[in-house]
Amino acid sequence: MANRPKTSEALKVVARCRPMNRKEEAAGYERILEMDVKLGQVTLRNPKAAPGELAKTFTFDAVYDASSKQADLYDETVRPLIDSVLQGFNGTIFAYGQTGTGKTYTMQGAWTDSEKRGIVPNSFEHIFTHISRSQNQQYLVRASYLEIYQEEIRDLLAKDQSKKLELKENPETGVYIKDLSSFVTKNVKEIEHVMNLGNQTRSVGSTNMNEYSSRSHAIFVITVECSEIGLDGEDHIRVGKLNLVDLAGSERQSKMGGPGERPKEASKINLSLSALGNVISALVDGKSTHIPYRDSKLTRLLQDSLGGNAKTIMVATLGPASHSYDESLSTLRFANRAK
Ligand code: ADP
Ligand code: MG
Repeated sequence: MANRPKTSEALKVVARCRPMNRKEEAAGYERILEMDVKLGQVTLRNPKAAPGELAKTFTFDAVYDASSKQADLYDETVRPLIDSVLQGFNGTIFAYGQTGTGKTYTMQGAWTDSEKRGIVPNSFEHIFTHISRSQNQQYLVRASYLEIYQEEIRDLLAKDQSKKLELKENPETGVYIKDLSSFVTKNVKEIEHVMNLGNQTRSVGSTNMNEYSSRSHAIFVITVECSEIGLDGEDHIRVGKLNLVDLAGSERQSKMGGPGERPKEASKINLSLSALGNVISALVDGKSTHIPYRDSKLTRLLQDSLGGNAKTIMVATLGPASHSYDESLSTLRFANRAK
């Protein structure tokens, strides 16, 4: 037990609520979600509450309301994790929530507006600023970008998009994806270029980008290798890995599909999300001797970056309006299990 990092340091769960959108305002939906930024609490009121039914309150490591800035979330919550990746630890950042609540906004944001840049572009800037200021270290930064859709892995940076990639296990280095492309990037521009390439690939294969992105998990992986001559005169190498994960929408499948919905696909999307929930609860519980990493592609892939010495942040994204009560409650419960 002595070596086990405190859960609160290893895993941070924060909640973020987007502003009411025009449609919701025009339709006159009630606001049912309130955030107390000081206490780190979210209160959700059931719009169809029975008389005497109390609103439900959840407490997180931090909460970000509709007026929060991208920079607030980055500086308070994300920055320390990126710093630890630069020191050779692994880290994972997830955005979890119903489609339309701001997962992609939180991860990517609007790249061209400096105020609206999300976690991904801010972390690129952070990593390369750190590297440019370092004096005695040599860094090598590599980037990969993949997607999990129906429990199949696709390399978003590969020329041949028809190929499905396999997860393999090496007794010494652990789980890896066979033949996954990876690009060495020397500055922010280069790593942004890699991300843009992958984003383009993602959108090309789909007739309806929104529907597609709501069903697939996108994972951008940055490996930071640092070598330094130690006091012993020898070269020491540290490797940190950062996974930036825009998860599939957490909404229940019955709501998602139209007439063309395939049940098989639906259950496979839920598989990685529910496996993630189980892995995180088992880690938080601390008493579980078995962490069920093997239950899905997502959790197997992230095995070396969840638990142990790795740091994890989950951003649970929420909408403020009454029509999303059921989904908001389910997101809050999922995030609450992770604490
Ligand atoms: P998701 O990826 O979860 O489906 P998006 O990130 O695409 O959701 O967000 C849906 C819409 O809401 C987008 O138009 C986005 O710009 C807007 N949005 C989301 N979060 C915020 C926020 N915190 N502030 C302002 N606009 C937001
Ligand atoms: Mg999205």
